[in-house]
Amino acid sequence: MAHVVIIGGGFAGVWSAAGAALARGDADLRVTLVAPNEHLVLRPRLYEPEPDRATVELRRILGPIGVEHLRASVSTIDTGRRVVVADGREVGYDRLVLAAGSALVRPRDLPGAERLFDIDTLDGARRLTDHLRDREDCTTVVVGAGFVGLEAATALAARGRVLLVDRADTVAEPLGPGPRAEIEAALDELGVARRLGTTVTEVGDGYAVLSDGTRVEADAVVWSVGMRASELTRQISAELDHLGRVPVDRRLRALPEVFAAGDTAAAAFDADHTVMQACQHAVPLGKVAGYNAAADLLGRPLRDFTPGPYVTCLDLGGAGAIFTRGWGRRVMASGADGAAIKQRINQAIHPPVDDAAEILAAADHVYLDLPFFPRDEETTAPVA
Ligand SMILES: Cc1cc2nc3c(=O)[nH]c(=O)nc-3n(C[C@H](O)[C@H](O)[C@H](O)COP(=O)(O)OP(=O)(O)OC[C@H]3O[C@@H](n4cnc5c(N)ncnc54)[C@H](O)[C@@H]3O)c2cc1C
Repeated sequence: MAHVVIIGGGFAGVWSAAGAALARGDADLRVTLVAPNEHLVLRPRLYEPEPDRATVELRRILGPIGVEHLRASVSTIDTGRRVVVADGREVGYDRLVLAAGSALVRPRDLPGAERLFDIDTLDGARRLTDHLRDREDCTTVVVGAGFVGLEAATALAARGRVLLVDRADTVAEPLGPGPRAEIEAALDELGVARRLGTTVTEVGDGYAVLSDGTRVEADAVVWSVGMRASELTRQISAELDHLGRVPVDRRLRALPEVFAAGDTAAAAFDADHTVMQACQHAVPLGKVAGYNAAADLLGRPLRDFTPGPYVTCLDLGGAGAIFTRGWGRRVMASGADGAAIKQRINQAIHPPVDDAAEILAAADHVYLDLPFFPRDEETTAPVA
């Protein structure tokens, strides 16, 4: 029987599995998801105080739709022989979807790097939570004032003093000037101190040293800078983008028998942008890549990836959240209104479970359809 293999059990892998099951219908086709994890981790929620709540059991999604789960890590992709090696075992495929995601790049040469915390993975977020659990009035240093660093810093502000450090001269440099004033105001409201044009050069027991030589108190130093796609991308393509992602066409094909989705795929958003390494894009990329992998084997028409509108929603802890539209990130809602939108998004990214019809219907409905996700010219531009 023909076989679709999906590498990865994050948003892109799970939705690839559902997309492949949708395209399969009643046809004979085996679909296997290979990933070491038992749970889908809702990474966008890992800044929350109880990270274990941000998980969904994979068996509750894959079981009802007849997708096998091989709990293993892939080390090798042999595109010539159409085989992947998972925990030393060879698994043959007819179509492959690479959805192995991304990971934080931790600094190698920083003295005390082993003491750094992060909220990139469930284990990382648990470690930080456990470390701070019984401490009162903690002092934390957050390195990186981008999206993840801002969510970490504003969440940690509820626990005590926070110092936000960034090499750039402004906060939220990757988000551009659109939301900056609102973010600065939120940081002021929460009393989050900033040291810009600076980084951390050493981490010790209860302290951090900054690049200007200052030594600051720190119960924990949280690293949030730099995301890179899985190294497996190198086995698919010699030409990767600056985030280590594989170039794909509008059907998300990287090679004749290999598709890519989520944080491993450099798919075009429009003539000027590639997709972000974001759940917002990983979900529809997965749905389309998985569908196409199965449809290609079954001789059925493939789907184009036509992105939904680009939005961002940044949680700012006790100062609410901001919701922006378009690549200029124009602020549409902030404070409590923004927080209400963030809450709805965090619910909407939780996939349906236990009910095959509901899971497959969601896979067929490629984009999140929420009232605050407008489809208009400002946020959606045609792919050239
Ligand atoms: C703190 C935080 C906040 C975020 N906030 C937002 C937000 O507000 N909005 C937004 O859109 N995005 C947000 N993101 C980004 C979003 O979480 C990612 O873009 C999304 O998780 C990517 O999904 P993915 O499936 O491509 O990859 P991942 O989530 O990285 O999943 C990859 C999967 O592949 C598996 N895997 C890896 N290597 C192998 C291997 N060799 N063999 C087998 N399996 C493997 C992993 O175990 C995992 O199951 C946030 C991320 C973080 C960390």
